[in-house]
Amino acid sequence: MSGFDHRSYYEMLRDSMSVSLVRAVLNKELVESKESRLRASRNGGEVDAKKEAEELAEFIEFLAADLFEYFPKELTEVSYDSKTADETGWTGSIEMAEGLLNNLPSTYIDSIVDAKLLNDAEDVKRMTTSVLEDYLAAATAPPLKWTETRPLECELCGREVRLTYHHLIPRSTHARVLKKKIHPEYMLNRVAWLCRLCHSFVHHCEENMELAKNWYTIELLEQRDDIQRWIAYISKRPGRTRVK
Ligand SMILES: [Zn+2]
Ligand SMILES: [Zn+2]
Repeated sequence: MSGFDHRSYYEMLRDSMSVSLVRAVLNKELVESKESRLRASRNGGEVDAKKEAEELAEFIEFLAADLFEYFPKELTEVSYDSKTADETGWTGSIEMAEGLLNNLPSTYIDSIVDAKLLNDAEDVKRMTTSVLEDYLAAATAPPLKWTETRPLECELCGREVRLTYHHLIPRSTHARVLKKKIHPEYMLNRVAWLCRLCHSFVHHCEENMELAKNWYTIELLEQRDDIQRWIAYISKRPGRTRVK
């Protein structure tokens, strides 16, 4: 049984890829200095940000498609049911992906290194390991939770396109958020359903800790000038992948 709310295995991979790549891009930008970004935003940089978000979404799609072609069969059949039935604990564990991780396609590695997102094959392997951990977690999650809360439209732009979930308090910040008592534990798992372009744009606007501290609801995000301009722009665009 799939029961994945129309999320195909490829889409789960693409969404996991999206989270890790946006993180890689942000790290790169932080290292490369915020100055050039500031300069860009003074010269009408929001146009560039839109273009970048779209290009990034396309790049993610391209990488996910490339990697998906090399997926061993068992990775495209894993499910909540098969995980529950497997008492050895192997189904859904990262060991399932070890063969693939040790033989990543060179086209895939080169694309990421050539784009200067990561330095070398080792970095790509590390990043892909976290992509596949995310993917396996998504593929083996009990499906009902999502269908109960999931809207049809992107919570920012309102388009009826395929949605990804955004942790309003990003997972990578949870430990620090609890330690510094920024939010109570029950708030940590709140998600917003966003289309991929809006999702990329949100992560493009702020790094994770900033999102966790100051931009942890849709209402707060909607108050930002850059997001308002983005919504005005993106909501006029048709969704490329309409849900029925
Ligand atoms: Zn959207
Ligand atoms: Zn997110």
